[in-house]
Amino acid sequence: MTVIEARDVAVHYGGIKAVDGVDLALEAGRICGLLGPNGSGKSTLLAALTRLVPLTRGTLLLDGVEYQNAAPASLARRGVARTFQTVRLLPDLTVAENVRLGADLRRRPPAGIVDDAIERTGLGEVVRARPGELSYGMSRRVEIARALATSPRLLLLDEPTAGMNQAERQEISELLRRLRDEGLTQLLVEHDVQMMIDTCDDLVAMNFGAVVAHGSPSEVVTNPDVQRAYLGK
Ligand code: ADP
Ligand code: MG
Repeated sequence: MTVIEARDVAVHYGGIKAVDGVDLALEAGRICGLLGPNGSGKSTLLAALTRLVPLTRGTLLLDGVEYQNAAPASLARRGVARTFQTVRLLPDLTVAENVRLGADLRRRPPAGIVDDAIERTGLGEVVRARPGELSYGMSRRVEIARALATSPRLLLLDEPTAGMNQAERQEISELLRRLRDEGLTQLLVEHDVQMMIDTCDDLVAMNFGAVVAHGSPSEVVTNPDVQRAYLGK
């Protein structure tokens, strides 16, 4: 079953074709990885899917219903959450209060969802800290916890482990797979190819705003176009 779909989606910034004719469909209960060199359009595609940039052309579907004119806030209410490539936390709020902002996006957040998000992301020890007191890796976890506190059924993650060490990346990979096993559909942007192979059920590779390969992780990473464009081989 397809949860979210982009059909011939383009986002142009003046003459820059950041995304140019992308077709993408995310299947329920799977983690789809999105690979591509810097500037290939990954973040712009996430922005398009979450209605944070206007489309130049194309169609967006959530559960088969067009939503390319929907307001971003309505997506949170429909179970779509995201994290950003750069950490966006409110510096004067505690970790717990930042996470609570996610729950506040839902009309009726499930009881205990904030504590659950904090516990799952390993933030239990720092709930009263403020973002400025956290390591970069920990502040990235708060981003993920805030998204989980919206109780999403679809989670879009833009480089969630950038700046984390190997052990932290492994923990996030395990968390995402646990969430997948509980039914959470995910789109994951990451540069660490091994992590993508270990974490994702499907891979999509982009270059110059277009999809150049999609399929199983082993198919995509051995694709000659992907190796040339992305892996520098
Ligand atoms: P990625 O996430 O794959 O690194 P981006 O989606 O951030 O790629 O960027 C794709 C292209 O669009 C790049 O050439 C980038 O410079 C350009 N771009 C992204 N955002 C903007 C913007 N707000 N205005 C103009 N150009 C942009
Ligand atoms: Mg990006």
